[in-house]
Amino acid sequence: ASAAVRQRVAVLGATGSIGTNTLDVIARHPERFEVVALSAHRQLDALLSLCERFRPRWAIIDAVHAPALAHGLRARGLPTVALSGAEALTEVAAHPDVDTVMAAIVGAAGLAPCIAAARAGKRLLLANKEALVVGGEVFLQAVRLGGARLLPIDSEHSAIFQALPEDPATWPQRVEKIVLTASGGPFRTRDPATLATVTPQQACAHPNWVMGRKISVDSATMMNKALEVIEARYLFGFAPQQIEVVIHPQSVIHSMVQYRDGSVVAQLGTPDMRVPIAYGLSWPERMASGAEPLDFGRLGALTFEAPDASRFPCLFLAWEALAAPAGTTAVLNAANEVAVEAFLQGRLRFDRIYVVNRGTLEQCLPSKPQDLADLLALDAQARACAAQWVRRLQDA
Ligand code: NAD
Ligand code: MG
Repeated sequence: ASAAVRQRVAVLGATGSIGTNTLDVIARHPERFEVVALSAHRQLDALLSLCERFRPRWAIIDAVHAPALAHGLRARGLPTVALSGAEALTEVAAHPDVDTVMAAIVGAAGLAPCIAAARAGKRLLLANKEALVVGGEVFLQAVRLGGARLLPIDSEHSAIFQALPEDPATWPQRVEKIVLTASGGPFRTRDPATLATVTPQQACAHPNWVMGRKISVDSATMMNKALEVIEARYLFGFAPQQIEVVIHPQSVIHSMVQYRDGSVVAQLGTPDMRVPIAYGLSWPERMASGAEPLDFGRLGALTFEAPDASRFPCLFLAWEALAAPAGTTAVLNAANEVAVEAFLQGRLRFDRIYVVNRGTLEQCLPSKPQDLADLLALDAQARACAAQWVRRLQDA
């Protein structure tokens, strides 16, 4: 491809685990991609070094660090323009000079830029699963109206996407169910009675993946898999009862599709997020990702077990939320973001993340969200309710 047809990519959440892996893949293919924008919440130094390396047109950071970012860019003699805040994220996500948006912000904070990119018809690479869990039908409608191409980056959803036939019109007739695999996280075999005393450091020590702290805690509670069940529901349109979860500790099979005839198609690979990232960036083509290929001679056994409801109660909230009125998945996500943050700050016991999530789900009943403003209001309302639960449990 010539320079004229390079994909112009905005990486939102560039300093995170997914952002870093995305830039690693992009750097392997300078003839295919041009980085036009990079964002970080407040990691000034990391963002500045990325700007030196990729020389984007825009760099975005929160308002507090914006002056220092502008100064740092000037001091380095870079052409990059410093922008700040949530409005800058949505403007860049919808800008006509951006072709592809990598949504790698963590949490509902990434919702507005995702919807902006969807409305503007971008190629939208979705790592930020919370945005879809919160946005639900409103998000999907923005994708339809804007003519955006939504491509999953979550490894399970990339696997499903790769194992499904190309034409979605054929799915209802052909597909029996989809099976999401889960590693089981760091506490898969730990005595459930000891989960009350787990520390943030223990919860973030994932056996197979190195990830941001929020998703690491979600993996330990299996709330991550609950979010992924909801994400799969919205991405692929299957009924909640057609979505199954199985624990597969080796994280080699990234997920599977079972067809009407009993045939199961799986996608395999080493646990390296550069594989689904490269697929999203190059789709429908394929390109090198930098990941080690599987070595079947050394792989050993692949094992499977059913998830246990007493050990992983958070997982089962997914089907409950999907059966409830629209907006309930946004409530569940907000509760979990508040609970995880409280846990990471030492204000909430690990085993009480579930209590906050369930309590908020039962207490905060949504009216059907129609647009982004409704979603943000619902998110705020659910956060307030969850914060009350955290305080109540602190005194308990
Ligand atoms: P991370 O914490 O490593 O990085 C998050 C990025 O978002 C950082 O660049 C940070 O500066 C930015 N950010 C955080 N809060 C923000 C805010 N309020 N406003 C603007 N920017 C903000 O997280 P991660 O592990 O890279 O995960 C990113 C997303 O991808 C999450 O939604 C996660 O669930 C999803 N995901 C991650 C992995 C993985 O392997 N890390 C796998 C699948 C899906
Ligand atoms: Mg995943």
